[in-house]
Amino acid sequence: MEIPRLEPCIPLPLEDSVLEDLVDKAKDWAIMNGAGMRSKLKFSKNELHFAPFMLLPSTFPKREFEKAVAIQPILNELMHKVAHSYEFLSESLKSTIEVDDFTKRLFQIYETVRKEGFTQPISLGLIRSDLMLESDPETCIGKECCPKIAVKEQDKVLCNPYCCWKQVEVNTIASGFGWLGPASRVIQRYVLQELGHADLLPHLPENNALQGLCGGMIEAWKLYGKPESVILFVVEDITYNICDQRFHEFEIRKMEPKVRVIRRTLTDLGKRSTLTEEKILMIDGLEVAVVYYRSGYAPTQYHSELEWEARLKVERSLSIKCPSIQYHLAGTKRVQQALASPAVLERFLDSSVAASVREIFTGLYTLDLSDEGNAAVEMALKNPTHYVLKPQREGGGNNVYGEEVKLMLEKMGNSNERSAWILMERIIPPVQRCYLIHPNSDTPVYTDVVSELGIFGVIIGDEKVILKNSQVGHMLRTKVATANEGGVAAGYGALDSPFLVEMKSCCHPIIQN
Ligand code: ADP
Ligand code: MG
Repeated sequence: MEIPRLEPCIPLPLEDSVLEDLVDKAKDWAIMNGAGMRSKLKFSKNELHFAPFMLLPSTFPKREFEKAVAIQPILNELMHKVAHSYEFLSESLKSTIEVDDFTKRLFQIYETVRKEGFTQPISLGLIRSDLMLESDPETCIGKECCPKIAVKEQDKVLCNPYCCWKQVEVNTIASGFGWLGPASRVIQRYVLQELGHADLLPHLPENNALQGLCGGMIEAWKLYGKPESVILFVVEDITYNICDQRFHEFEIRKMEPKVRVIRRTLTDLGKRSTLTEEKILMIDGLEVAVVYYRSGYAPTQYHSELEWEARLKVERSLSIKCPSIQYHLAGTKRVQQALASPAVLERFLDSSVAASVREIFTGLYTLDLSDEGNAAVEMALKNPTHYVLKPQREGGGNNVYGEEVKLMLEKMGNSNERSAWILMERIIPPVQRCYLIHPNSDTPVYTDVVSELGIFGVIIGDEKVILKNSQVGHMLRTKVATANEGGVAAGYGALDSPFLVEMKSCCHPIIQN
């Protein structure tokens, strides 16, 4: 199938003479305004390079963007309820934790604090739901997401090149790009103005993700209720995505000058943090009100028992965690797959709301050693390129694509190892052509790219009461169309922002009167 194409926001390509000057300016603009990263090739705390970015914003259907924004509070609530259902988490993760040691250890922490009784009933959720436009009408038409509209052959030709969007995943830990998302919009606004297209600026939607996410942390800090307490960012041993993290820190100080943010690694916490008799978490003489994890989601971030002890200690404390251990587990791929099983959403949401959430799921299948799992394996072996194999990992670079899906499934055979993975239908987003500006390349790369939109949500509450629930902003990541993954921090993608246009889709034709 030829992959459908979206039109760029302005006619391309640009004249070489225009481009050269513009790219130089845009790169400097990015560095000088904090759209930067530390080099992975030559790390130094004294230096930054600009984060890879798209020179121009990517065309995105307005209607689908608005739908994604509108559904975010429902997804927040769903994750909150899932995180508070011991029954659901334990039944969904049962077979996974038999074979996946990392998830098992997280689950053991959950079991421990649950048995002891949660010291802090309130959780802070800073969530990001990631999605892609689906360009393959076959995925949608005739299925639940598109029950009523039969598309005739001749209509397909008139259709715009997407039919709906589908959720890629929900992140409940270290949901990054609250700064670099909005920053890319500001770079691209500057570029459009430089090109004489100030009239197009209203197509770039407002993005206050940074204020929204920091506002969530400040609200949690206020709920904790001790003016001298601090917000702790749990960070990696080496932080490459430093601008994104630091801007959160700077913004918190700006929004609430009384709050101090500190940064410590899990190892620091293991070595130097203590719990008082009242379960107050202390480190280096400071009382911790809120723990915000930008690390702790990958096995490699736990070097020894020390880091696991630190995680348990934090979980036992009175601090408000982002995420709490149950929120972390609610964000696993396995739970995402379990939520897509028949009648599961209805356990958490009203049936009409559940139906609207089901629409955004693409095919998600268990690979357990069951009839269901065997059927999924058979389906994937027949058509491996239609699927993605996912383990219980975060942070990019862990999934399996294309023919390797088949090789991996064959390798696992009927071993229990299968239960550590899920199978997901591959989403085929429409392509567009644009300039990718990368710090490792002196010239812009004019190439076909595809985008993934992330919508941020903030939710605060305990098992019984939700105190705050809102959608707070977005980020767009764009990658070369032939690449499997698009993580910017992981080195695969580029910062971008949506350029919203009215267009019709295969499933939702705009009716002209
Ligand atoms: P991680 O938690 O490691 O970020 P994701 O599920 O988000 O894992 O997958 C990483 C990347 O792989 C996504 O950002 C996306 O680019 C690509 N990807 C994941 N699932 C799909 C899918 N079903 N179809 C197409 N691409 C996908
Ligand atoms: Mg992801």
